[in-house]
Amino acid sequence: MTAPQTCHFCAARLSRTVVDLGEMPLANSYLEESQLGEPEPRYPLHARVCDQCFLVQVDDVVPPEVIFGHYAYFSSYSDSWVEHARRFAQSATRELELGPDSLVIEVASNDGYLLKHFRDGGVPVLGIEPATNVAAVAQAAGVPTEARFFGSEFASELVAGSRQADLLVAMNVLAHVPDLNDFVAGLATVLSPRGVLVIEVQHLLRLIESVQFDTIYHEHFSYFSLHTAERVLNAHGLEVFDVEELPTHGGSLRVWATHVDSERSASERLLSLREKEAAAGLLDPLRYGGFARDVERCRQSFSDFLVAASADGKCVVAYGAAAKGNTLLNFCGVTVSDMAYVVDRSPHKQGRFLPGSHLPIRSPEYFMQTRPDYITILPWNLRDEIVAQMEVVRSWGARFVIPVPVVEIVN
Ligand SMILES: [Zn+2]
Repeated sequence: MTAPQTCHFCAARLSRTVVDLGEMPLANSYLEESQLGEPEPRYPLHARVCDQCFLVQVDDVVPPEVIFGHYAYFSSYSDSWVEHARRFAQSATRELELGPDSLVIEVASNDGYLLKHFRDGGVPVLGIEPATNVAAVAQAAGVPTEARFFGSEFASELVAGSRQADLLVAMNVLAHVPDLNDFVAGLATVLSPRGVLVIEVQHLLRLIESVQFDTIYHEHFSYFSLHTAERVLNAHGLEVFDVEELPTHGGSLRVWATHVDSERSASERLLSLREKEAAAGLLDPLRYGGFARDVERCRQSFSDFLVAASADGKCVVAYGAAAKGNTLLNFCGVTVSDMAYVVDRSPHKQGRFLPGSHLPIRSPEYFMQTRPDYITILPWNLRDEIVAQMEVVRSWGARFVIPVPVVEIVN
């Protein structure tokens, strides 16, 4: 019997399941060939919603040292994400009138993919990136970067060193923060009195509506609606004044906030998204109950597809060794007898094996040698990009498969 789970944000006791995905290996723990015979650690992957604040969150069951041991991977950014970063830097510089006297700070700044665009526009920057090897890459590229974990303590150190952000950016990191309140308190501390905070998070509304259960994994602790994001920020003296709905990661929010006393008025699209979430039932705990049924429907449809393909003697493979793919494959019980291999563009992953399913990871060129019949796109959020890149596979009649929310064969 494990201890009762409590909300990462408001500490209320959690009793409502969104979906219980069973025991799963960590999504980013890729294996070497020599590890294939060893027992693989598995941990419960159980998502719940808080009845008080509606934060959706996974049970806190993996020891932190195990989770953080997996943080040292390079994120391989897609072409569309690099472009997303460049456009954001340009528009934010213009709209916030940033210049040589401003400071842009990004938390979880990775290899400087975003900050380099501000720097190139003559705006001073500071990156904060906990993975030392990744921070070193940013430094080498001329993006000043502190190799530290961000939280309230480090934020106070920055302020003591007279470093506060006129623009503070946290893209796709809030969901991965184990101590949510300490992290957001740090954001409030390091944000200058008139500064603007921009956060991007996957949108819970899109996750639920599109049955994106494969974006649930152990290292992804929290899943935010606009409503809950606003509550968390408010609790730390921050106030949202605008929000954008973005297509990235299957549907994300870009939330714009300031300190509460900035006197900016709420935008029209903020008011309208609040209403949209309420109308969709996100403020009703019962709404979350139907999700598990939708997930089961997805699993059934994917299993049916694999069985039918096998009966027809077809070769099924996958594209993209991403975290979300591992949740899907392991929840559906996929093994190498169902799918021969997965390809990935990242040389860091090629030659290794997916956790749980043990699919070998090859380079995309491997398609040309083996001519598979079906290519399952695991990072379905990049489907158009991948289909365009892999046009060559059509020469032997291969077809793409999108597994979520139910199997779709792309002709
Ligand atoms: Zn809560």
